Amino acid sequence: MIEVSKKCIGCGKCVPVCPFAAVQMVDRLAVINEACTLCGACVQVCPVKAITINREEASARRDLSSYKGVWVYVELMDVPGGHGKKVRPVTLELLSAGRRLADELGQELCAVLIAEKNHGWEKELGEYGADKVYLSEHPEFFEYNTDIFSTAVIGIINRHKPSVMLYPASIQGRDLAPRVAASIYVGLTADCTALAIRDGLLVQSRPAFGGNIMADILSPTSRPQMATVRPNVMKIDEPRPGRTAIVVREEIKIDKGLRRVKVLERKLAHDKAGTRIDEARVIVSGGRGLKTKEKFRLLEDLSALLGGVVGASRAAVDMGLKDKTHQVGQSGTTVSPKLYLACGISGAVQHIVGMKASDIIVAVNKDPNAPIFNVAGHGVVGDVHEILPKLIDSLKKKGK
Ligand SMILES: Cc1cc2nc3c(=O)[nH]c(=O)nc-3n(C[C@H](O)[C@H](O)[C@H](O)COP(=O)(O)OP(=O)(O)OC[C@H]3O[C@@H](n4cnc5c(N)ncnc54)[C@H](O)[C@@H]3O)c2cc1C
Repeated sequence: MIEVSKKCIGCGKCVPVCPFAAVQMVDRLAVINEACTLCGACVQVCPVKAITINREEASARRDLSSYKGVWVYVELMDVPGGHGKKVRPVTLELLSAGRRLADELGQELCAVLIAEKNHGWEKELGEYGADKVYLSEHPEFFEYNTDIFSTAVIGIINRHKPSVMLYPASIQGRDLAPRVAASIYVGLTADCTALAIRDGLLVQSRPAFGGNIMADILSPTSRPQMATVRPNVMKIDEPRPGRTAIVVREEIKIDKGLRRVKVLERKLAHDKAGTRIDEARVIVSGGRGLKTKEKFRLLEDLSALLGGVVGASRAAVDMGLKDKTHQVGQSGTTVSPKLYLACGISGAVQHIVGMKASDIIVAVNKDPNAPIFNVAGHGVVGDVHEILPKLIDSLKKKGK
């Protein structure tokens, strides 16, 4: 499964990078012991490609019955204003969904927490359903890095063998999950909108063919069964105060040499007020019906009065009325605010999939047959250019 060929020149570069102390030099040749988790760190640094992993063979030899438990990758996010980190809400959504899957399987729900330092997050993770937290702390985990984080996650998976592993379909999760999947030779279903258990297998449902059908995907011959889930698709269950999770510490030695990317600058995709669109409680969204950038500014005024964030349809983005970070929908961001106001948006299926989980949907459209009215709880048939200024004026008068 993992082999060192005669090409080995005895340089020893593979020894310090192994996070699990599984490589030693014997008579100037690399020898790999049973602590190896097939994470691939040694393969990456070998200058003569003497180390190879046959992942297909490793996968074929897996005893599927030894894989147990539902795992959730814990994503941490910066608290605005440089106030440290916190658990990203999508993690709690995954724990809520994962709890139901674990109960159905009669197995444990575990969270995987990779952090520079744990700040008591196991308490929150426990209250939201985790039975166990696999915790790995290291100074090199100060910020997300594909090589470092995937090495840690692969190592913990290979040690403890989960049956199901869920990741957020966030920027981080979309980067990490495919890397892990390819490294351990398993499948990955991206952007699931529903998860269930059928005959002991994870049913991973996601839109296919432009959102026109729902596809159910199963992974009967590989473990773990892995999926990413978009933020705001699953509802967060009420926490159970006082419920605790057991912390299992995972010692992982991380060598700086694994880090191939250096971050020079970070720009957060925040609204002017500092709120990300996927975390906003109020979204005032505009479509092609707004027609010009100048008219689109009416949405900025209205959203400022409501304490919200501006969203846009893809047509509005394509017209240059708003940038892509504000796009709601299948190829944009999935949102679930308390209030979603859709102005001059027709309600194409690709838009609806990104906002239908909003608590209250209000639509303004001059076409009474526009499909947006099928999902809107409240609708105004009329011209946005007349209605929006009136709405803004009346909110101003009310001193909002
Ligand atoms: C693979 C794929 C992915 C896609 N992803 C996305 C996505 O992520 N998000 C997304 O939004 N779309 C997406 N689309 C595009 C989607 O199919 C639609 O084309 C798009 O949502 C239409 O945007 P719209 O509603 O602003 O424009 P239109 O469909 O042109 O609708 C404009 C609406 O404005 C109304 N209107 C016009 N003037 C006024 C007025 N003065 N007052 C009031 N109402 C008025 C009209 O009656 C009409 O209903 C995707 C498409 C594909 C194929």
